[in-house]
Amino acid sequence: MIEVEIFFEDLKDVIYREVLKANSSVIIAVAWINFKEYYTLFDKLLTKNIELSIICSDNKQNKSHLNEINELRTKGANIRLLKMPSLRNHMHNKFVVIDNIHIINGSFNWSPNAEKSFENLMIIKNDKITAKKVRDEFNQLLNIETQTIKELHKKNKCKEKGCEGQLFNILVFSERASKYFETYGDIISVCNHCFEYTKIIECISNTQLEILLKELGCVNDDYEYEMLDKYISDLLMEYQNNDVLIHGIGKVNTELDGRDNEWDSTIVLWKNKFVGEKIPDEFKNETFEVYYDN
Ligand SMILES: [Zn+2]
Repeated sequence: MIEVEIFFEDLKDVIYREVLKANSSVIIAVAWINFKEYYTLFDKLLTKNIELSIICSDNKQNKSHLNEINELRTKGANIRLLKMPSLRNHMHNKFVVIDNIHIINGSFNWSPNAEKSFENLMIIKNDKITAKKVRDEFNQLLNIETQTIKELHKKNKCKEKGCEGQLFNILVFSERASKYFETYGDIISVCNHCFEYTKIIECISNTQLEILLKELGCVNDDYEYEMLDKYISDLLMEYQNNDVLIHGIGKVNTELDGRDNEWDSTIVLWKNKFVGEKIPDEFKNETFEVYYDN
């Protein structure tokens, strides 16, 4: 008979208790895992010869436990750190399948941050059909990574003669906001080498995006950064209907030098994490003619 239980407290203990009941296999997909805190759990499973597969996201916090991860791997664990594009946001799944029949699901990340916030865990027992669906989702996660990375790296070559640069789409916001605190911007396709550009979409306004970009400048840790990065990527989905993938967001910036000359440039505030290193931090003397100052 299928049984469902839900927990709001001592979630780490619940995980330990339920997962240790495994007889044959445990698969886990959770974005943030503190491998130091859960080391004993994983180690116990491996000692009992239980098949252990884990996927989590390829973030700094997870990678700070690489010693534990590698130790567990030598003991037989199959651990994958996925570079998931947050625009599809699949790694916000958090689930465990035990012995292909029990499922743990919920909002709980296996990290210290999670213990402070309001989280929950649902346990579904003896449900083979759902367990199979969840297992399929796990396998899908592994495939999606390969596909989306390919898509993002698809080269869009600059059309200028002799230029070897690559074109990127940057959403450039105007410097000043309107009296209603709304900022407008355009999506520009720009070459990262010769800076030749064309406007693709004009007059975009998104106050929420503007606020998130400001917050991005003062994040405290990796977790906060990833959450903001996810929100920004989700918001950008709105503009991606016409196959316009936004690789970065910038804002026009004017500075005065010592002799009262104005210097315009575009500062890049957010970059897609997969192609970011190819986009400059700043386009000097370039505003892409983005002026919405009234
Ligand atoms: Zn070029």
